Amino acid sequence: FDSKLPNVGTTIFTIMSKMATDYGAINLSQGFPGFSCDPHLLDLVYKFMNEGKNQYAPMSGIPVLREILTEKTKKVHGVDYDSESEVTIVSGATDAIFSAITAVVKPGDEVILLEPAYDSYAPGIILAGGIPVFVPLDIPDFSVNWQRVKAATTEKTRLIMVNTPHNPSGYMWTQDDLNQLAALIQEREIYVISDEVYEHITFDGRVHLSLMTHPILKERTFVCGSFGKTFHVTGWKIGFCFAPAELTKEFRKVHQFVTFSTATPLQYALAEYLEEQNHYLELPHFYQKKRDLFCEGLKGTDFQFTPAQGSFFQQVYYGHLSQESDFDLAVRLTQKIGVASIPISVFFNNKDDHKILRFCFAKEDQVLEKAISILQKSK
Ligand code: PMP
Ligand code: GLN
Repeated sequence: FDSKLPNVGTTIFTIMSKMATDYGAINLSQGFPGFSCDPHLLDLVYKFMNEGKNQYAPMSGIPVLREILTEKTKKVHGVDYDSESEVTIVSGATDAIFSAITAVVKPGDEVILLEPAYDSYAPGIILAGGIPVFVPLDIPDFSVNWQRVKAATTEKTRLIMVNTPHNPSGYMWTQDDLNQLAALIQEREIYVISDEVYEHITFDGRVHLSLMTHPILKERTFVCGSFGKTFHVTGWKIGFCFAPAELTKEFRKVHQFVTFSTATPLQYALAEYLEEQNHYLELPHFYQKKRDLFCEGLKGTDFQFTPAQGSFFQQVYYGHLSQESDFDLAVRLTQKIGVASIPISVFFNNKDDHKILRFCFAKEDQVLEKAISILQKSK
């Protein structure tokens, strides 16, 4: 078969999670919480299912959820959007990212990706006929190298993909990053997709700077988010996309033929839940305790690391210990030692091996303690 995606195989998340199950390893690979959401949120889903909210939702999302989300965004970021024409409820951030790419990228357009980049970006760009242009982030802190970004920008550049807080490194964009990007796109017709699924998982008092907070960026950006990350329900596959009306119009043209709409009872439940309380405000504290527990334990291993700024991932460097590839080490740790992780070479187009593994610390404390004890003993 003449594949449209010849270089794409099964995602590393599927591979490592399966390997963890097959070998009985603690699964710190694929990013998902090892604990359940607030039982009240489940009660709300049940309530709305019982009330008969079981048929197609409106294509753009139920109005009450769009309204409450728009109010929350105003409260958190101080930014105004029109809930009718500038926000769309989608089936996970993956849907938002794919639909936004498809809406913007024409055959031959170049799209700048900052590597390491989340695995769903490049396939979406290639399917749209676009050309991914890979620009490496600066190691070791994974900050943006603006000279390199500028050098990679051409008349064909149509889109730049942003991810803050960043998966896998946890790097969070600064005001200077926002300003640099604004200056760059102001000169040309370049659009931005900002993947902000970890917007509420930030540490050490850092504030997430959404691209929507910059007036120039707001006009050109699709800001994508995920309720899965914020409410510990990654399996629900429900998220959102904020964009100016003109861009939302194009976005919806695609979204309506990708999924048409998103699970109705989940939308009602999330709307009521968001109306009732501010669960998301507790996330920095909740996840920082887990990050600190994990990092404290890592001190008893030979890995080198800098605590993550945001997201629920912690990277570790092992290049001073071994020349084994990160993929081989991740496989060996899973099969022989009993802890699964993600080799970050998978987030690079050329599978660059920086001898770094990514661990997900969104797990019960006792699971993290057990993983740490295994890693400490295996050094
Ligand atoms: N972007 C990033 C950076 C992610 O880590 C993930 C994964 N969970 C997604 C997008 C996809 O989010 P969703 O599950 O809501 O589709
Ligand atoms: N975003 C999750 C991660 O980075 C994985 C989601 C998926 O399996 N597609 O681990």
